[in-house]
Amino acid sequence: MKAEKRHITILGAGESGVGAAILAKAQGWNVFVSDFGSVKESFAKELNDLGVAWEQKAHSLDEILKADLVIKSPGIPNTAPVMMAILSKGIKVISEIEFAAYYSSAKTICITGSNGKTTTALMAHHILRKSGMNVGLAGNIGESFAKQVAEKEFDWYVLELSSFQLDDMHEFKADIAVILNITPDHLDRYENKMEKYIASKLRIIQNQTNQDWFIYNADDQNILNEIYKQKPAAQLAPFSLVKEIEQGGFATNKQLTININNQFTMGIHELALKGKHNTQNSLASGIASRILEIRNDVVRESLADFTNVEHRLEFVAKVNGIEFINDSKATNINSTWFALESMNNPTVWIVGGVDKGNDYSELTELVDEKVKAIICLGKDNEKIKESFAGKVDEIIEVVSAMEAVAWGYRLASTDETVLLSPACASFDLFENYEERGNEFKKAVRAL
Ligand code: ADP
Repeated sequence: MKAEKRHITILGAGESGVGAAILAKAQGWNVFVSDFGSVKESFAKELNDLGVAWEQKAHSLDEILKADLVIKSPGIPNTAPVMMAILSKGIKVISEIEFAAYYSSAKTICITGSNGKTTTALMAHHILRKSGMNVGLAGNIGESFAKQVAEKEFDWYVLELSSFQLDDMHEFKADIAVILNITPDHLDRYENKMEKYIASKLRIIQNQTNQDWFIYNADDQNILNEIYKQKPAAQLAPFSLVKEIEQGGFATNKQLTININNQFTMGIHELALKGKHNTQNSLASGIASRILEIRNDVVRESLADFTNVEHRLEFVAKVNGIEFINDSKATNINSTWFALESMNNPTVWIVGGVDKGNDYSELTELVDEKVKAIICLGKDNEKIKESFAGKVDEIIEVVSAMEAVAWGYRLASTDETVLLSPACASFDLFENYEERGNEFKKAVRAL
């Protein structure tokens, strides 16, 4: 894409917006960055050092609408007044990922899904790096894709892509696309229409040809329906936990098998990350690696020594025989379902926060089977109390991680588990899920 001194407006001055500004400036665009909120000091400094025009706590339409191209932060919905003005003028809007891809010749493994994106992206990156490939990691993780394209050179990237990023991608093509699962999340941004959210996720395979690959969860009915309808052009490599797969991968309770090029097998107990959801993540990243013909021993070693990411079913400590697990990143029902499913001991479950339209009945069976007490950590706990009243010994309400841990310690006995897996966003009581998880860990360590 030739800049020819044309104007670009970047909406949102966070990691991706500032990265886009760095790349756009390097490519000769006239850059204007606008953020309706306040801009973090470190980003403000980067923009000043870069010498581009920018504003905060405002959207100056006269400047913004000069743009030939707009790069929009994934956090801004199309219904925001500034977006309506831009769209009604017919200005092209793309995501930072699409913009960066214009200027990169690296190949990509692109990972989306309602849950497991970060874990799987980190896992795939770990395997590729251990094989000696020159590989970067971007998207929703760490430094923005645009900044890395401006400053580094990689042959491959592993990109974690949210549905919001995919919404503003049009010409981008993934060499290897992965969809882990599609379960209800963020429906508020999709007019509460599941089919719109699904369509957004499926954009990850747009523009693919028969030279490319599509890895997907063959146990997910939403994905299967779309494959039936869309007939993807790419070569298909599904994975399953319930049936054998000829080209792709599958797992039983004992063994994981990948059939791509030659056969790869590995004992489930050898996998670094436990739980069925992590077996799915291991399958997806393993299949991608075998498509790239990474040696079986490298794949095996990498899946065995991968270290878990903070706040995702993270073991914190055992105190007097009580195990404490931090799954603060579980912000929807599906991720909490997998957390509860992987519990082997009676569990005191800490749940709650801001719910994005949760249907708790999906958890009833697991709660019956595994949960002895519930601690609600949120401002409004009515729905949780209604859903589980009478199903567990006790339901307690608290408003801090410290209280939650103290109650957990009191209610659990030796060889039992206290699990923080909120199924909700955190911003009623905490800055973000990281703060929630960190406070939980701090309180556990202080016991
Ligand atoms: P994302 O980046 O998609 O939010 P993460 O890897 O950060 O996903 O994990 C988010 C939450 O979902 C964690 O609680 C984690 O334990 C759970 N999780 C991880 N992988 C999966 C999966 N494949 N299916 C369902 N839940 C998962």
